Amino acid sequence: MQFIDLTAQQQRIRSEIEERIRNILDHGKYIMGPEIPELEKKLAAYTGVRHVLGCASGTDALLMALMAYGIGPGDAVFTTPFTFIATAEVIRLLGAVPVFADIDPLTFNIDPEKLEAAVKALRGEKSDPCPLPGKTEELPAAKGIIAVDLFGLPAEYRSVRSIAQKYGLFLIEDAAQSFGAEYHGTKAGALADIACTSFFPAKPLGCYGDGGALFTDSDELAEKMRSIRVHGSGPHKYDNIRIGINGRLDSIQAAVLLSKLSIFPEEVKLRHQAAQRYSSLLAGIPNLRLPSVTGGMKSIWAQYSLLAENENHRTEIQKKLQEAQIPTAIYYPIPLHLQSAFADLGYREGDFPISEEISRRIFSIPMHPYLTKESQEKIAEILRTG
Ligand SMILES: *Cc1c(COP(=O)(O)O)cnc(C)c1O
Repeated sequence: MQFIDLTAQQQRIRSEIEERIRNILDHGKYIMGPEIPELEKKLAAYTGVRHVLGCASGTDALLMALMAYGIGPGDAVFTTPFTFIATAEVIRLLGAVPVFADIDPLTFNIDPEKLEAAVKALRGEKSDPCPLPGKTEELPAAKGIIAVDLFGLPAEYRSVRSIAQKYGLFLIEDAAQSFGAEYHGTKAGALADIACTSFFPAKPLGCYGDGGALFTDSDELAEKMRSIRVHGSGPHKYDNIRIGINGRLDSIQAAVLLSKLSIFPEEVKLRHQAAQRYSSLLAGIPNLRLPSVTGGMKSIWAQYSLLAENENHRTEIQKKLQEAQIPTAIYYPIPLHLQSAFADLGYREGDFPISEEISRRIFSIPMHPYLTKESQEKIAEILRTG
């Protein structure tokens, strides 16, 4: 059994992908070929966002979004410590400081109350106790928020957006895991000032290499990011107007995505079916907590993550599943504030107790559109007898 089965999907669209790639070999526009605007238009239509820009990866999408806001040394961006490294890495890469706020224990997404406490603490206002990075003499200036739609479930955007508005902060959606998800009828990608997604092969919509996209309704931000994507280009080809990066998506990856996008709506349904099947098969198993989806949300189930009772219990469960050749994974075993790369921020164990506890208990089981009922029954049987 595979954790994410990309072969079954490829079999469905192989000949179409081959034809599209052959077409690129013929026209030879490997960089910014006609596949790029075609894909961007389709992604805009799917999400209902005005501007979509293909880019080289989800990490570059986040980086370019922060660059569009001019983030640099002396700035602070709020985010969750329970996410993939890239979310906070890009903040640090620009010389700014990630300020973490703990997660909601049910959704694993940033807790709006903790977020507001962090914003207030950084502004020197009275707030609930909230750990801040580094020494307290020179605090960075609050600039924005990156909310993450972890495992494909959108963050609590109504509350997060109102905090952003109240304190004059920009809001970026890290939708790397949530393309295809919905929040009160709005698609992931359309939930913040700028959204960033990833087309890494294992994401809900993946290509056959690295890729990503940026989404925004703002003409001004779109224009800036379009320039940043190609070395800060301006109207004159050799007079660059800002510092940018080489952040383009390849034509061949766009071609793969165009083929995959044509079956994506059906795959969304298959993912929901598989998740519902897990929910009923696994209901009532003692000492195992199933994922919760709050009202108005539609997760895209990038991961189906369960909570064991504690770390030992998790190890036992993983071992049993492994003996039956069922793969599992742990996202994420170490929250960001405790990772070596961020040691200089000065956070400590105990600063974000919910993220820390969840990181000891969480594990994910196979999840993809082509997961069979038989496989799910087998997994459930082992978990039940565990
Ligand atoms: C995958 C991922 C990224 C980075 O995307 P890449 O395409 O791998 O660069 C960023 N944030 C989150 C939450 C992710 O899961």
